[in-house]
Formats: sequence, structure tokens, C-alpha cells
Amino acid sequence: MAVMNESATLALNARAKRLAAESKTIYNLTAGELADDTPPYIQAAVAKTLEKNKYTPVAGLPELRQAIADHVNDYYGSRIGTNSSILDENGPIAAANVVVTAGAKPALYAALLSLVNPGDEVIVPVPAWVSYLDLIKLAGGKPVAVPLTAEYDLDVAAIKAAITPKTKAIIINSPHNPTGAVFSKQAVAKLAAVLKGSDIYVIADDIYTQLVFEDDFTPVPKAGFERLVIINGFSKSQALTGWRIGYLIADKSVAGAATALLSHITGNAPLPSQYAGLEAMKRHDQPPQATLDALLKRRELVSKGLKATGIKFHLPAGAFYFFLDLRDYTTNSADWCEQLLIETGVVLVPGEAFSTPGFARLSFVTDEKTLNRALVEIKRFAVKQPGRCSQAL
Ligand code: PMP
Ligand code: GLU
Repeated sequence: MAVMNESATLALNARAKRLAAESKTIYNLTAGELADDTPPYIQAAVAKTLEKNKYTPVAGLPELRQAIADHVNDYYGSRIGTNSSILDENGPIAAANVVVTAGAKPALYAALLSLVNPGDEVIVPVPAWVSYLDLIKLAGGKPVAVPLTAEYDLDVAAIKAAITPKTKAIIINSPHNPTGAVFSKQAVAKLAAVLKGSDIYVIADDIYTQLVFEDDFTPVPKAGFERLVIINGFSKSQALTGWRIGYLIADKSVAGAATALLSHITGNAPLPSQYAGLEAMKRHDQPPQATLDALLKRRELVSKGLKATGIKFHLPAGAFYFFLDLRDYTTNSADWCEQLLIETGVVLVPGEAFSTPGFARLSFVTDEKTLNRALVEIKRFAVKQPGRCSQAL
């Protein structure tokens, strides 16, 4: 049996929580989830449905699939259209294109299993979120890593050069985990031009699109890709990570194949979580304003604190991650982060988890007091080892 490593982000978060439970002073900056509780409007809506307990159709409650289709048509507008395979005769996205899943992860996995034949290649810009490479391999495919530019934008020329007759899909995640970057409208449009007329699918992982701090953001599906699968969910926008609720949107053949697969794996997504999604859709999946305000404030705080450490970084435009460039200190960020944890109690996710050694991810979902203390510790640690390994680069 093939051995697969546990998701490094989940494993580190669990380790940080275990250490904190042992009364160690721990500043856990690993979390890929909001610190907020379930929004009260979701709690109230779901409380009214608790007597319901039956299976739903595998692809989800019809009213939820319709609500998602309506929301997505509204959110992406007509730009998704023209020749997109998602649409029937250029009509809007229909409920039949939507498959509700137990989180965005099964949505991704079902999409990859539906699209990828053994040996097919899937291009993944790196740094890349932990699960992409493993999910591609699990689906029998071959991940092809293509670095982002130094500014964390899509390197379309490099993507074009990586395309072979075996390329089946490209996963594009904007806002991006782990860098917090949003890809430029120009780069995404250029990619659409490169893929025009080809059979290559773009899998747009849009899970962070409701968490954006800059005006200049165009969701990937708006570039009008001909072959498109959209992945999304309520884990990030509604702080529902533990509720396990997400969805995919695809042409009917992919949506049908994904539904057939899921009928043998999870069956329908949890029923209360589907009602949670329905309530979120009534609010256009908008996160509470207080959540956005708090994140914005924390982003400023961390940006200021990091400047004082001397560590290089780009200001994230979305999601809730800073990606620290540690290459002036080390090429082995796993060791650097381990030492940071041992000496200071600060837990970051090393870049190795995102196929990019020499970096580390800092999540800024946590409270300001913890962030402030963690930044003091990071500075104390970093100043002790200026330029230690820069000659190795
Ligand atoms: N895509 C990205 C980029 C993510 O960061 C995550 C984090 N969990 C997921 C997908 C999976 O989301 P979910 O928890 O809904 O499975
Ligand atoms: N996606 C989040 C992260 O990157 C949650 C952890 C995970 O799903 O692996 O931290």
C-alpha cells in the first residue's frame, strides 16, 4: 500500500495544540482556519433543522445546489461565459453543474479523480498548498510544479513551457495559500489565451475569494477559461472548517462523474452543514464584517512587526497568510522553524510543506496579543543569526 504523509499543516497545528495543552508557552501561527466561532446566523438557521436526518441526494440538497448556482452566476457574472464548458449553450450555471461535498478537499479529489487518467500531468504553481500534490498522485496523475514569479504572480511563460500532450489540468488558487497573493488580471488573462482551444482544464480553487484586502482582485474564473472546474466552500468564508462543507462546479460530465465517485466514498455532505451553506448563500457567502476588519488590523500589525525583524516578505492581498522569505538565514526552513519552536514557542509552517524550502508560512488569524508576542520572539530569534546561510544560495 502506498504511504502518504499526513497534511503537514494539520499535523503541525495538532502538535502546537498538544504542546500548549502540556502548559508550554506556544504561539501557534499555523492555523489555516479563522479563530472565530460559527457565525450566530448560521447557528440559528441550523438549529431549526436539527430534526432532519435523512440522506440527501449525493450531489446535495436541490435548494442548496440552486442557491450556489445563483450565487456563482451573480458573483462571476457573464465573464465566465463565452465558451466555458461549464455552461450549456452559454446559459448560466445550473444546479446540475454543482456538486456539494464534505469540504473543499473532497471536491478537489473528486474533480481530479474524474479528470485524470493514469500518467496524466497536472500543473501546479509552487509554492502550493500541501494537499494538491498528494491528491494528484492519489488520483494517478503526475504533479508538475512550476514556480510562481518572485512577486508571487503566475509565471505564464513557464506554465506554457511545462505543457505537454499529457497535461490534463492546471490548479490555480487565488487568493493563494501559502503566499496570500492574488494573481494579476493580466497574468490570468494571458493564461486563458495560452489555453484557448486546448483540452486543458483550469481547476480554480476559489476558497479564499471572500477574504480579500485589496480592490484590485479578479477571480480566476472571470478570465473566461473554456474548460473550467471551480472549487469552493464555506470553511474560510464562514469559519466552518470543522463542519466539512464545500462544493465543485463543473461541466455536466465531470459533475456526473464526481457525483458517482462520491456516492461510494462520502455519500452526501453532512446535512446540518448543507443547511449552514444554504444560510451562507442567503447572505451571498459574505463573511461577517467584524471578521474582515479584524483580519485587516492583524495584517497591518504583522506587517509592521515583521519589518522590525528584518525578514523579507510580501504584503498578502488575501487569505490570512504571510509567506516569510528565510533565504538570508537558511535553505532548510524545516530546521529553522523547528529551532524557532524549541527556543521561542513560535510555530510556523516551514516552506517544505508547500514545496518551497527556504520560506515559512505565518497565519495571522490569531489574536493581537499572541501575534505581538510571537513577533517579539521571532525578532529575538532572527537577529541572532543574520545572513547565516545566505552564501549557500
Ligand atoms: N484549498 C485551499 C487552498 C486550502 O487552503 C484549503 C484549506 N483547508 C482547502 C482547499 C480545503 O478546504 P476544506 O477545509 O473546506 O476542505
Ligand atoms: N488549508 C488549511 C491550511 O493550509 C488547513 C489545513 C489543511 O487542510 O491542510 O493550513
